[in-house]
Amino acid sequence: MSFAKDELEELKAYIKANNGPEDLKKWDIPYYAEKLKKEKFAIDDELLRPYFKLENVIEGVFETAKRLYGFTFIQRNDIPLYHKDVTTYEVKNAQGEFLAVFYADFFPRAGKRQGAWMTSFVNQKIENGENVRPHVSIVCNFTKPTESKPSLLSFDEVTTLFHEFGHALHGMCANGQYGSLTGTSVYWDFVELPSQILENWCYEKECLDLFAKHYQTGEAIPSDFIQKIVDSSNFQSGLATIRQIGLATLDMAWHSQNPKDITSVKDFEISVTAKTDLMPSVPETCTSCSFSHIFPGGYSSGYYSYKWAEVIDADAFEAFKEKGIFNQEVATAFYKNVLSAGGSEHPSILYKRFRGREADPKALLRRSGLIKESV
Ligand SMILES: [Zn+2]
Repeated sequence: MSFAKDELEELKAYIKANNGPEDLKKWDIPYYAEKLKKEKFAIDDELLRPYFKLENVIEGVFETAKRLYGFTFIQRNDIPLYHKDVTTYEVKNAQGEFLAVFYADFFPRAGKRQGAWMTSFVNQKIENGENVRPHVSIVCNFTKPTESKPSLLSFDEVTTLFHEFGHALHGMCANGQYGSLTGTSVYWDFVELPSQILENWCYEKECLDLFAKHYQTGEAIPSDFIQKIVDSSNFQSGLATIRQIGLATLDMAWHSQNPKDITSVKDFEISVTAKTDLMPSVPETCTSCSFSHIFPGGYSSGYYSYKWAEVIDADAFEAFKEKGIFNQEVATAFYKNVLSAGGSEHPSILYKRFRGREADPKALLRRSGLIKESV
């Protein structure tokens, strides 16, 4: 909380120095925060895009999977496709055995939904004694290349690709008995572990050096750019953290008491979020009704899962950081206990088997720069 308060004070001072409004409202915060972020880190998407040509990023994510798990990806042109923009790969494991078919559908087109996601056409399962290997796909909406310019990704899009590929790995590595319990068929707060953990590699020089090269000059991404990416990722992390915790607490509060006792939606909301809301509530608004991750969307007290998944992924990634981001011993343990195990056992059992203990929430605070101590 003290980090969030300090960040807010810093922002208020910045707004004052820039002749912003004196009577600050909630909606002023993101606008000025974005301006301050740009000034502090002097790095924007356009500066980074040339280092993230789509083909290079794909090679980078494949190389990451190769170094961690020994997987190889062979492009196939003989597999039927639902659209010509889709690319298909045969994936082989470290022993050279067929692991999965991987589909990549990266560009927008008429009728295609916005956003990015992973999906599975065939789930892994054992059927009639045969191990049916999965067919999984990741779908994104990156800018399509033109004749004169390749598809150049923003850093956010790079992390999106790694994120979705992490889900795809979960699907491809599946090795259980029942289709309903393998791959990504796990509890809601565990499904984001394989995806979120893979995003961590995007912030590591050792990984970026594998693929982040200028598309025209071939020059590797400068170290100070990498540092700025890391620094800016923690910009106002205190405020971001209490915002998520506030929303999760509100969601949980709605679903953990007798609605009969709640007489005013607005008053209830204000009392629940008093600890995490640093700005005065806007009378005409109501987060409980407008935030679409409380009642709709199937969350219903599940919104905490995003933050909890961050706790697990930060702690799991520290296991890699301790021994090396491509360390085989840690990668093998993660493959065995998380990626290939699906929902065959309770996540806490699987996680403890991987890490040797429960997840330490301090790992996330360390990564977010909210406590200063080394691992
Ligand atoms: Zn995800």
